[in-house]
Amino acid sequence: MNNRELLQRSLAAVWHPCTQMKQHETLPLVPIARGQGAWLYDCDGNRYLDAVSSWWVNLFGHCNPRINDAIKDQLEKLEHVMLAGFTHQPAVELSERLAQLSGLGHAFYGSDGASATEIALKMSFHFWRNRGQPGKTRFVSLENGYHGETIGALSVTDVALFKDTYAPLLRTSVQMPTPDWRYAHADENAQDFALRRAQALRSHLEQHHGETAALILEPLVQGAAGMGMYHPEYLRQARAICDEFQVHLIADEIAVGFGRSGTFFAHEQAGIQPDFLCLSKGITGGYLPLSAVLTRDPIYQAFYHDETAKGFLHSHSYTGNALACRAALAVLDIFAEDKIIAANRAKAELFNRIADPLRLHPKVRHFRNTGMIWAFEVASRTQGCSRQFFEEGLKRQVLLRPIGNTVYFMPPYVVDADEFSHLVAATLEIIECIA
Ligand SMILES: *Cc1c(COP(=O)(O)O)cnc(C)c1O
Repeated sequence: MNNRELLQRSLAAVWHPCTQMKQHETLPLVPIARGQGAWLYDCDGNRYLDAVSSWWVNLFGHCNPRINDAIKDQLEKLEHVMLAGFTHQPAVELSERLAQLSGLGHAFYGSDGASATEIALKMSFHFWRNRGQPGKTRFVSLENGYHGETIGALSVTDVALFKDTYAPLLRTSVQMPTPDWRYAHADENAQDFALRRAQALRSHLEQHHGETAALILEPLVQGAAGMGMYHPEYLRQARAICDEFQVHLIADEIAVGFGRSGTFFAHEQAGIQPDFLCLSKGITGGYLPLSAVLTRDPIYQAFYHDETAKGFLHSHSYTGNALACRAALAVLDIFAEDKIIAANRAKAELFNRIADPLRLHPKVRHFRNTGMIWAFEVASRTQGCSRQFFEEGLKRQVLLRPIGNTVYFMPPYVVDADEFSHLVAATLEIIECIA
């Protein structure tokens, strides 16, 4: 099948996500036939460097032989069995290993990020209820925060474009001022700014802790906000304030977990532990939909009871899918065998040097890096240069999807120096031609 035929059939049969479909009258879909490493190939043999890791999920490249082999092996044994009343080796092993890595446990599985958010919110509320505090029903999140788009998750998300239309359906939640250092005063460093922003959280919880179940946030990087980055001091403060006022801290590491922030989990950089940890995206290396929520033992114990309704009666059909768990185990093996966290640290240093011409470019603002994420704003005459960037990127063999005027690189960890140099060179050309 050729490119043209596939995209026409797609427009007729598929409702694409996060898309005004009419836009595709002028913006062609990109029909992808196969992937290899950091590259995607279309049906005519053109290739694109996947600089956004296919919406932040891919870690070790497309068609990774080790993940492929693990899934093939699992496929011959068991593809899926319901996890209520049954169990299987991949789910058990994955739960044990995630517990080892996080110091939390009792992994509860869902199928995608938004369902992990829903699980954490429901668990937090239900914990307080089981503990005789049913009045703790409200949630607090951060300004510009993103936690998914199902009704519950959207209620704590703060991205107007996704939220405003559905506002009448949503339960209100309160947003605290973001610690994203792009909003700091010119003479204020990121840490001082984080401290100042934490004050607002303290005053809010001082007044409202009696009705607040949890604070949910994205540790260190607010992805959908345009890779807004902040100092770990804010997490330390948030942990202390939540402890002081008996409010849960939910770490949504759906995007920043699995090494993306430079440590295995982002909250490690603040030396804290959340009450709930939400994981998805990179968990299967970008292969299969899977999410997990881990929590502390005392929280689990509050559900452990003779009374059925005190238990957490939540489920998804594909909870703990065996193929997905097995892919996740292969991902953890790669982390351990190839010492990925250390390797990425060296890689990020090298990539920062390669990206210097961008950092120093007169049209680039707020150049920033956390772990394997790079981002900056482009001073452009046209508001929202996102589409132009995307189209010009394809002409130069790179897949970029800026968020507004924020251009970001979030490549698979297998990207090498030559590929990263190609990405930087293409981006510099695009800035010249559109800004
Ligand atoms: C992507 C994302 C989600 C939602 O995950 P889905 O799998 O798209 O539902 C939630 N939180 C954060 C921080 C994310 O980046």
